[in-house]
Amino acid sequence: MSLTVVGSVAFDALETPFGKREKVLGGAATHFGLSASFFTEVNAVGVVGGDFTDAEWEVFKRHQINTDDIEVVPDGKTFFWQGRYDYDMNTAHTLDTQLNVFETFDPKLSENSKNAEFLFLANILPMLQQDVREQCPNAKFVAMDTMNFWISSMKDAVIETIKVVDCIIINDAEARQLTEEPSIYKAARKIMEYGLKAVVIKRGEYGATLFTKDGYFVAPAYPLESVFDPTGAGDTFAGGFMGYLAAQNEINDETMRRAMIYGSVMASFNVEKFGTERVDALDYPEINQRFKDFKRMTHFDDIAFEMVSSAA
Ligand code: AMP
Repeated sequence: MSLTVVGSVAFDALETPFGKREKVLGGAATHFGLSASFFTEVNAVGVVGGDFTDAEWEVFKRHQINTDDIEVVPDGKTFFWQGRYDYDMNTAHTLDTQLNVFETFDPKLSENSKNAEFLFLANILPMLQQDVREQCPNAKFVAMDTMNFWISSMKDAVIETIKVVDCIIINDAEARQLTEEPSIYKAARKIMEYGLKAVVIKRGEYGATLFTKDGYFVAPAYPLESVFDPTGAGDTFAGGFMGYLAAQNEINDETMRRAMIYGSVMASFNVEKFGTERVDALDYPEINQRFKDFKRMTHFDDIAFEMVSSAA
């Protein structure tokens, strides 16, 4: 099965308590696509400027990501985002956003991208997300992300988009903001009422929670002692989640639970180095080992407690 992702392809400038990078490859479609490429065929839809060099294209090529629908505007500049993290690595402080060629982004999907069975609408203008959704009438599982900026400036449009997808993958603060509910459990139930099959709420270092019509599942985050750079962790999670599902014959409670773990596995690697560095260099033994670690970490035996009487 193939998977299409629509979203930002970017240059990021990053600062964390562990170091600084002036210009690394980033963007939601990039992080998502790289992660998903370990599981399935990926088509990336985006736009870049003439400043995008062979070194960046190589990253996509190495992972066989189809870049035919990444438009190049030769006299334009690639979207640029600058962020800083303090010791609370769950919170990104945006220092600068230069939309550049992304400002007039008008996603045009080739037949190949349109025919993908799986579609991920990364964080872009909600109306564009709806437009892309309409271009893919045959997609059998569609997920979306969004961000606080769209929720505060055009909540109704965000809700209209939610109504035409199967799954939303957002962080806890966004879920609360969207529903005006302090409890993420209540928030998730409210969001489900828009007709979704699944709501995934990402909670940074505390993991991620999956809500379905009848089920509930919690994946912890991998206990890393040093999170180097959390940029793109959410998109990398979504890439592992959607990529794994696209490689399955069925979407059911069991496959979604494993998808949650593969999402967490991929995100845990992403944060170990700056930008795409770590995921770019990943191999399957590492992925499978970490998947096993998650199993061990969360396993417990179902043994009921019985009080042993001392009066014998
Ligand atoms: P995440 O940390 O998963 O939320 O995603 C981080 C990525 O999103 C970075 O690589 C940025 O280039 C990209 N990004 C930041 N702000 C925006 C925005 N307003 N629209 C689209 N992408 C963005």
